[in-house]
Amino acid sequence: MGASESAVLTEPTATDRVYAAVYEAILELRLVPGTRLREEELAGSFEVSRTVVRQALQRLAQDGLVELQHNRGAQVVVPTPELAAQVFDARRVVECEIARRLGGQLSAAQMRELHTLVVQEAAADKRGDRARSIGLSGRLHRTLAVWDGNPIFVRLLDGLLPTTTLLMAMYTSGERPACVSHRHVELLDAFARSGPAAAAEMKRHLNEIERSLSPQAPPAVAARDVFAHYREARAGPRVPRKPPG
Ligand SMILES: [Zn+2]
Repeated sequence: MGASESAVLTEPTATDRVYAAVYEAILELRLVPGTRLREEELAGSFEVSRTVVRQALQRLAQDGLVELQHNRGAQVVVPTPELAAQVFDARRVVECEIARRLGGQLSAAQMRELHTLVVQEAAADKRGDRARSIGLSGRLHRTLAVWDGNPIFVRLLDGLLPTTTLLMAMYTSGERPACVSHRHVELLDAFARSGPAAAAEMKRHLNEIERSLSPQAPPAVAARDVFAHYREARAGPRVPRKPPG
């Protein structure tokens, strides 16, 4: 999925940097739903061209995190309760079927890989690293789709997971993690048993997340204020220093 994976292997491009920074700001609710993202303003904040900003915004639109507005930049999507219901409906259809197929069929190495993700997720929860916990949680769900072997299922999940994460960030109270990691332990147990057990547990898991959503809108902050630190940090080393004394 999004920001965390794209930066791993190659040197990030300017577009990658802007995409990753805005992606994180949205999922951490520093840019709240409904915030206007003006191309010119973002180009100034990141010291990049408007073309770069436009490319980053297009990728965020593909993730379902921003809505593009003709000639006016973009806006962080405002997920409605209807959208939430649609997203979880789609996730249940896709992921319960994936679970039914994979349950009882995974190799010992695959079960170990899932277990490692759950352990890392629990550790991130424990130290309050919400971004990391959210990332690992999404990776567990996506990994199952990858193992199912149908790339269209992976693309479907890539379209659903960022919106789910945004909904979780918006609608869950306090520090609650994206997917409760002890529930992932139960999910893994079910995957070790059988297809029907895994499908039933996946349905229960997704129902539980959906039920945990309760409206709670944080106050809006302008995008230029959110990225002010970014600009200062980048500008910092280039300011010529006066010799001491
Ligand atoms: Zn989960």
